[in-house]
Amino acid sequence: MPVQNHLHDMDEENCCGCGACLQICPQSCISSAENKRGFAIPVIDAEKCVNCGLCKKVCPWQSILRKNQVIESYIAKAAQESVQKKCTSGGIFNLLAEEILKNGGVVYGCEWTDELLVHHVRVDRVENLPGLLQSKYVQSDTERTFIEVKKDLNANRFVLYSGTACQLAGLKNFVGEHENLILVEVACHGVPSPGLFREYIHWIEEKTQKNVVGFQFRNRKKHKKGEHYQLRINYSDGTEEFRYAAFDPYYASFISGQTLRGVCYDCIYKGKDRVGDILLADFWGAEKEHPEFHAENGASAVVILSSKGKEVFEKINVTCKPSSWEKVTAHNRSLIEGAEKTDFYQTIDINRFIPKVTAKTLLKVYMPEKIKYLLKRL
Ligand SMILES: Cc1cc2nc3c(=O)[nH]c(=O)nc-3n(C[C@H](O)[C@H](O)[C@H](O)COP(=O)(O)OP(=O)(O)OC[C@H]3O[C@@H](n4cnc5c(N)ncnc54)[C@H](O)[C@@H]3O)c2cc1C
Repeated sequence: MPVQNHLHDMDEENCCGCGACLQICPQSCISSAENKRGFAIPVIDAEKCVNCGLCKKVCPWQSILRKNQVIESYIAKAAQESVQKKCTSGGIFNLLAEEILKNGGVVYGCEWTDELLVHHVRVDRVENLPGLLQSKYVQSDTERTFIEVKKDLNANRFVLYSGTACQLAGLKNFVGEHENLILVEVACHGVPSPGLFREYIHWIEEKTQKNVVGFQFRNRKKHKKGEHYQLRINYSDGTEEFRYAAFDPYYASFISGQTLRGVCYDCIYKGKDRVGDILLADFWGAEKEHPEFHAENGASAVVILSSKGKEVFEKINVTCKPSSWEKVTAHNRSLIEGAEKTDFYQTIDINRFIPKVTAKTLLKVYMPEKIKYLLKRL
């Protein structure tokens, strides 16, 4: 039977990997396979497919969804420093999530799996929130969470779902508009390959002859000396290792945009019209745009995109100052345009990404943060 109405021949350049198609398929005939660059791609069993077209309807690349517009923008950080320190930038996600849980709602976000990959999970107790905090720079698998969200909404629960714009678009296509659903969009310059991350962990284990049991991309404990982007690796023997992004093959290649999913280079979910109710980003350039705001430990850009988003933001305990979309995006181009296209690597070999260390890199990494901050303010 000719198949015309479903997604076929999918690859990284026309599929964002949100998983909506896998979750909607009434025949369960869509599965996921890893391509040679380590990204998950949907594979359709044409024998089982009944050509219902639901996969196409929920696909954020086929049914483009961008409804909300910028209402207000802020520079913000959690009022309590301890909250900010647990998170990546301003700690705003943690406060929003607590607010929803306090009122009997549920929160979805992503955490590390035991195998050190990243997936979305459902949390309904504050004790389980810490696993969701902090950015994991690996594409997350949404698993069956869109189905679970639908069940929660049908049970009249408030739901906060956080993720990248394309994941939120897939979810919104899947469940439709719902007044109890709050979407928290995490700014994203692109997602890197889970397969490459797996190979990278093997590479570390081979080099060190130790097992990696924990990973943190934005370690705050030691970054005071210089560069913010420092990772921490935990080994099974109880030791830990700290590395600056600029010296690390996985991290440096992610930041420079060499290892992103194909679709991210031409991401269609950029700009002022957005999917979420609230957008969270790092407030880069805070010292220039808001010199009056104390952002030594980092600050978030919070962009309010709907009245629902505004309502929940007003309830949380933050230190904030009004800003503007122009100020937020002046130093954060990833909110308005896709990453610059680089040569597509074709095999997941981490050795090809070992960075060259120059005098400029050393200066950037080791110049104390306080001096950098003062220089930027000047
Ligand atoms: C792949 C990726 C690329 C990013 N690129 C940029 C960028 O270019 N510019 C910028 O300003 N900010 C970027 N961010 C977002 C930024 O790092 C912070 O996550 C954001 O500012 C929120 O900070 P926070 O302190 O409020 O929350 P945090 O405590 O950091 O909360 C993290 C939140 O992000 C979600 N999250 C973590 N990892 C992932 C993931 N892999 N996929 C989907 N959701 C995830 C968690 O579920 C949680 O909701 C990126 C994040 C990711 C995951």
